[in-house]
Amino acid sequence: YGDPSQKIDYVFKLVLIGDSGVGKSQLLSRYARNEFSLDSKATIGVEFQTRTLVIDHKSVKAQIWDTAGQERYRAVTSAYYRGAVGAMLVYDVTRRQTFDHIPRWLEELRNNADKNIVIILVGNKSDLEDQRAISMEDAKEFAEKEGLFFLETSALNAVNVESAFSTVLTEIFNIVN
Ligand code: GDP
Ligand code: MG
Repeated sequence: YGDPSQKIDYVFKLVLIGDSGVGKSQLLSRYARNEFSLDSKATIGVEFQTRTLVIDHKSVKAQIWDTAGQERYRAVTSAYYRGAVGAMLVYDVTRRQTFDHIPRWLEELRNNADKNIVIILVGNKSDLEDQRAISMEDAKEFAEKEGLFFLETSALNAVNVESAFSTVLTEIFNIVN
């Protein structure tokens, strides 16, 4: 996960948003450290984690910010969004309410972040297929309507986590290049 002596060509700030319990912190620890924990308190207090990757022979440092339990409506401050070039908007495929709140998060993002921010909608916990409450078709349709990328992920099984982050990072890279 990145050679520290490597020169960095780009630093991209990404923010994770979405209701509490959807798996934001676990998606981040899966992506940044290839770790997963069933104890959600494990990463509380961490502001951001980084991972360096290579895109088109350039080294890109992704600086990914995680809310430390401030997911109550409007509790995430504008400082959190400042400078962000990408956002991962996460819901839990087993909890309808977390999907119903996505328009609010999107509005908050559009009010606080740069208007050109690259956004991916992520339906996490795809491993819990028997508890699914949101179909992939409904989410895909919503994402298309709003102009968002979309993927379902499992932080637990490490499914599509890599793809979700790289979709956003590659799109940002293409915009700045
Ligand atoms: P956050 O509040 O959005 O940061 O959510 P957390 O990352 O703390 O995760 C909340 C709970 O969901 C924890 O118990 C995690 O272990 C669990 N969780 C996170 N991702 C997954 C997943 O992909 N599948 C399953 N089954 N559980 C998950
Ligand atoms: Mg968290």
